[in-house]
Amino acid sequence: MIVVMKPDASLKQVDHIVTEIERLGLRGHIIVGTERTVVAALGEKRDGAMQALETCPGVEKVMPILAPYKMASSEVKKEPTCVEVLNLKVGAGKIGVIAGPCSVESREQILLVAQQVKEAGATALRGGAFKPRTSPYSFQGMKEKGLELLAEARAATGLAIVTEVMASEHVAMVAQYADVLQVGARNMQNYPLLEKVGESGKVVLLKRGPSATMDEFLLAAEYILKTGNPNVILCERGIRTFEDHTRYTLPLATVPYLHQTTHLPVVVDPSHGTGKASLVAPMAVASIAAGADGLIIEVHPDPEKAVSDGYQSLTPAAFAALMTECRKVAAALGRSM
Ligand code: PEP
Ligand code: MN
Repeated sequence: MIVVMKPDASLKQVDHIVTEIERLGLRGHIIVGTERTVVAALGEKRDGAMQALETCPGVEKVMPILAPYKMASSEVKKEPTCVEVLNLKVGAGKIGVIAGPCSVESREQILLVAQQVKEAGATALRGGAFKPRTSPYSFQGMKEKGLELLAEARAATGLAIVTEVMASEHVAMVAQYADVLQVGARNMQNYPLLEKVGESGKVVLLKRGPSATMDEFLLAAEYILKTGNPNVILCERGIRTFEDHTRYTLPLATVPYLHQTTHLPVVVDPSHGTGKASLVAPMAVASIAAGADGLIIEVHPDPEKAVSDGYQSLTPAAFAALMTECRKVAAALGRSM
């Protein structure tokens, strides 16, 4: 349930509510909004708890949270959340663009593409150092060496680094180098990993599992939020359907649906979502039109030579053209990027 405080409630009254919530065997989470503070009481339902809290000083009302996810729900926080790290700002009107290769392949490759995507207007650099590959015989990533190169690219460009962490035991290492920990689609329901990335305190980019429902997606985000880490960015990257003209099916209704149900920012990955370079820009433009808070785009200095996902990677020039198109749509809707 959520305890909505009166606009003039004091800090002492808010603290008292948290104490009372804990006395009832629940966990209290304070969420400071622009107009008022609310305290979410999380845990198993307790008889009489709502009535007990309603009589406390400074309380306006107590309401049940109907959604199965609590802290992610817009019932708890009406204003959209902006997640920020370095120059990457995503949400609450800000559009962040994360671009770079599928995999970090070499020092030359990552430093060059970092410069190229920065020039085109990206605010973060992506690049996988630990790669979840369908085949165990495919390139698995440069691992820690790749992370070092990403950190070097950040030092050279100022771009925030977004990279995937595949296993709980790698979280501490990846967190030393990255600004944003990406949880891949295959790991969306790896609950110990979600808790570990949450505890790292880093911004988390959570990709939707290819067969996850919206409730499952938001409950996965809830695992991260529950650790006390509010910095979660949701990413629609396509789902599996009978359709085979694209690698996945990219459902853009996800964007407005999530904006109605959660305060968390939503970005779209049209690269994995379509699997075809020629479809990436139109779907990126459509994502912005649908209200996406950002994009994650695969860009390679020479897509033909890419060790992974070359067929869906844009050249730097094509990425620059995509940015131009997206900016026009954003401007038409009164937003900028
Ligand atoms: C990626 O971003 O390179 C990736 C592997 O994405 P996903 O987890 O969405 O397949
Ligand atoms: Mn990829």
